[in-house]
Amino acid sequence: MPLAIEAKNLARTFPGASRPALDAVTLRVEEGERILLTGPSGSGKSTLLNLIGGLDRADSGLLHVNGVNFSKLGEAALAQIRGREVGVVVQHHFLPTGLTAEEAVAAPLLWIGNLSPGEALREAREHLSLLGLTKEEHRRPVQNLSGGQRQRVAFARAVAPGPTILLADEPTAQLDNATAQLLLDQIFDWSAGPGRTLILASHHHLDAWRDGRTISMRDGRLVTA
Ligand code: ADP
Ligand code: MG
Repeated sequence: MPLAIEAKNLARTFPGASRPALDAVTLRVEEGERILLTGPSGSGKSTLLNLIGGLDRADSGLLHVNGVNFSKLGEAALAQIRGREVGVVVQHHFLPTGLTAEEAVAAPLLWIGNLSPGEALREAREHLSLLGLTKEEHRRPVQNLSGGQRQRVAFARAVAPGPTILLADEPTAQLDNATAQLLLDQIFDWSAGPGRTLILASHHHLDAWRDGRTISMRDGRLVTA
């Protein structure tokens, strides 16, 4: 299997921090793998996902995503890949405000695709309908949706551009159990598609983790089993 993600001695220390948030992380993820990233709060899960998602840059080390050397990419090239090849499911309070649900999902389709606004909105509605949002909810401002609905918008926004890698950073953190399970089912369904790679960060124990590999972090390092 080709590698979706290959990280070698990846390190990141935030300015002013006394210890690295990420400390020489080496990781190989094959295409099609489903990874559960666990570890206590502050162990470096988000830092790692932000690097893989091209939202932040490592201080040192190597990072290849879908065979592309992220360590060498300029900002513009990174922005091209971000969103198109790597989808990031943000926690719903990071969704842009002032947009309706369908606009929030259509926006990345406009940035990276060759779609007209009408086409982008049509695609956005298809994704939202599949996730169970009604037509009325498509047109509602994101901030007027429930937490569970907003989290589905965040998921649709990440997968609509058709990425091969999906990164979900504690997407269920603020959802009740039933709503969380619904979203996890949708994320798992997505990951069952051909060649799709999923990394899901959670500090909760997931009973229903299916055919996946679990990677644990502590103090910025991967804990070897
Ligand atoms: P996790 O997602 O596992 O909770 P994080 O990756 O968010 O862990 O954090 C790892 C460490 O880096 C923590 O000590 C955290 O306080 C620190 N950290 C994370 N983001 C920043 C930032 N933007 N600036 C400074 N320190 C940060
Ligand atoms: Mg985190």
